[in-house]
Amino acid sequence: MAVLWLDEISAGDLEKVGGKGASLGELTGAGLPVPPGFVVTAGTYRSFIEEAEIDEELFAAVDVDVDDSAALADAADRAQELILETPFPDDLREEIVASYREVGDGEAFVAVRSSATAEDLPDASFAGQQETFLNVTEENLLDRVRECWASLFTQRAIYYRQEQGFDHSAVNIAVVVQQMVDAEKSGVMFTSHPSTGDPTMIIEAAWGLGEAVVSGAVSPDNYVIDRKDRSMDITIAEKKVMHEKDEATGQTVEREVPEDKRTQRVVSDDEIDELMGLGERVEDHYGEPQDVEWAIVDGEVYMLQSRPITTIDEDSGDAAEATGADASKGLTDGSGVQTAESGGGASDASSSGDVLVDGLGSSPGTVSGPARIVTKLDDLAKVGEGDIIVTEMTMPDMVPAMKRASGIITDEGGMTSHAAIVSRELGVPAIVGTTNATTVLEDGQVVTLDGEKGSVLEGATVEPDEETEPVEEVRPQSPVKPMTATEVKVNVSIPEAAERAAATGADGVGLLRTEHMILSLNQTPAKYIEENGEDAYISELVQGVRTVADEFYPRPVRVRTLDAPTDEFRQLEGGDDEPDEHNPMLGYRGIRRSLDRPDVFAHELEAFRRLYEMGYDNVEIMLPLVNDAEDVLQAKELMKEAGIDPEKRRWGAMIETPASALSVEGMAEAGIDFASFGTNDLTQYTLAVDRNNENVADRFDELHPAVLRLIGDVIETCREHDVDTSICGQAGSKPEMARFLVNEGISSISANIDAVRDVQHEVKRVEQKLLLDSVR
Ligand code: PEP
Ligand code: MG
Repeated sequence: MAVLWLDEISAGDLEKVGGKGASLGELTGAGLPVPPGFVVTAGTYRSFIEEAEIDEELFAAVDVDVDDSAALADAADRAQELILETPFPDDLREEIVASYREVGDGEAFVAVRSSATAEDLPDASFAGQQETFLNVTEENLLDRVRECWASLFTQRAIYYRQEQGFDHSAVNIAVVVQQMVDAEKSGVMFTSHPSTGDPTMIIEAAWGLGEAVVSGAVSPDNYVIDRKDRSMDITIAEKKVMHEKDEATGQTVEREVPEDKRTQRVVSDDEIDELMGLGERVEDHYGEPQDVEWAIVDGEVYMLQSRPITTIDEDSGDAAEATGADASKGLTDGSGVQTAESGGGASDASSSGDVLVDGLGSSPGTVSGPARIVTKLDDLAKVGEGDIIVTEMTMPDMVPAMKRASGIITDEGGMTSHAAIVSRELGVPAIVGTTNATTVLEDGQVVTLDGEKGSVLEGATVEPDEETEPVEEVRPQSPVKPMTATEVKVNVSIPEAAERAAATGADGVGLLRTEHMILSLNQTPAKYIEENGEDAYISELVQGVRTVADEFYPRPVRVRTLDAPTDEFRQLEGGDDEPDEHNPMLGYRGIRRSLDRPDVFAHELEAFRRLYEMGYDNVEIMLPLVNDAEDVLQAKELMKEAGIDPEKRRWGAMIETPASALSVEGMAEAGIDFASFGTNDLTQYTLAVDRNNENVADRFDELHPAVLRLIGDVIETCREHDVDTSICGQAGSKPEMARFLVNEGISSISANIDAVRDVQHEVKRVEQKLLLDSVR
């Protein structure tokens, strides 16, 4: 028999039907309302390849050196081709089609999902690619089944099995074919509290199909129910989008939720009762708390999936680390505190490799892959998907390669260097300032990079993870945003990161750096204008800013005028005309350059004027590296000359030099709306520590009492003058700094994309403590 029906399957059939199939069979057998379906068994896959006599060729094809990326790609192509191009034997085709016709009278839309059987793999999900096809009909059913089989042979799956020493021929794959439920509402349910195991159920619900909730495309409603007395806390979210089946094409589409349903509660009290009843049954059945996916259609509740909760901490009430690909999404228990977090990056395997080099962990995450040594003269095309770039220092023209890479290691640079800033925004783990990675590591050598600890280990100690989706990684999984009086914003340096930045739920952009937009033109502004004209240059600026301003509208976006040091300009085409400065950090940059060349600065101001004219009233102008009121007043005049009304638009200055900190009162009188601490520069100028010099990196301390004193005094003065204060330097992402600033009374904190959530919680904690202290 090629297929087994779900009601014939129990947990003991794992070998035949894989984890997913066994779980659905078990639920069906327990009388729970699971949509009908069947499993094309793992044995069927096996006989398919054996009877077609492609098995030996298949396993030989994938027996390659997986560190040779070209060979790996060829192997995956060949293996998949063998499976996809082998016809189904007639009897098998008939049996699968006949089974399909029994589901929903032959007209059903079904979901087709792979279900891997390699029980002994540390994470069976890597055996197959967890392929899922929705809304499949008879027409393409067989092709989809074959595609699930072929997913055993993606590059990543082959790489992983080879690295782990697993025999390719020992891994089989089953395929679940199950009737789709055209859910009107759906979501997830934790039958007990996901971190403490307490009898508290958490239900998240949104309109339409469940993918919208599971993928994080929508903020769902949140229901926290005490199972003892059935008391309930409800948080209704604004549900802007929903996923549903397009009647014409049968495909799943994302649609806007009609206005009147956006803030409407999704599940009624009766439906909550029913879901709770099911949750209790399924927890009793398995004898442990479960993470359940459910859907409701025509008043009927269906269970789509149930897995044990892997995040419960036996010893304490603290949130436990999620343990793998099955780890539950972060839910909220109503207090706004994340109770569990999805793995996000690659999960940690035991690491016994030697430390080859170390540096500053500048973008979190742990990855393994082949090192690609990139020198200035190299063709960046040599950096393949999943490679780890090893270079002296990244350059703006490396950004496309940085996006492809799984990690980045540099010899030079500190926490605020190009490599550190861009990799964080792209969500790619990185280590900077190793001093010697390009000489110690060899091209093609497989290494493991720990972007938290800053160490590079020999060999692959981390499995290649499921495709991580940088936008989804940072999207809060909970509708309950910590409400803070202090605004929490986000920093953006490359417009490509705008979507990811907006997905954090930040209150706006506290710093949009324009220099990365300009540097990526690969020509100095003068050269670019010479070749393409002033208008093209202005348009580049407008387009870059607009991408971010659109993404955040109406939340404010604070755009900083150009602040690139001459050594960065010198590397661009036209750079030979730049001054060769002995110390560019103290040189011709920021507002001093803009005021010296008002004709060039006018282009930037014209870009702002056009943006305002286009209606981007959320754009604010921020001036870098000012020293005193005189700088500010001159810039204000130029704004007026460019047709920007400083009384109407919000504008302000960065506090990046001790002089600016000591002169803030004059600047307030000159009319700034805000002052924003650029602690990267403020620290280097206060302590005389070059921020990009790895030899003194240990002395770069933004929490140094001298720096904190300057900051504290500025906040106090600005409060007296009704000027907002903010931080947009790297230190805004540090909890200790956030604590200090909230206590001092700062108006907003702008953090890196990956730090926004933690900063929101830290700010909330400090604010609550201040409130408590005031009433005690
Ligand atoms: C700073 O100096 O802290 C800052 C945010 O500006 P940049 O890092 O671009 O110099
Ligand atoms: Mg600065």
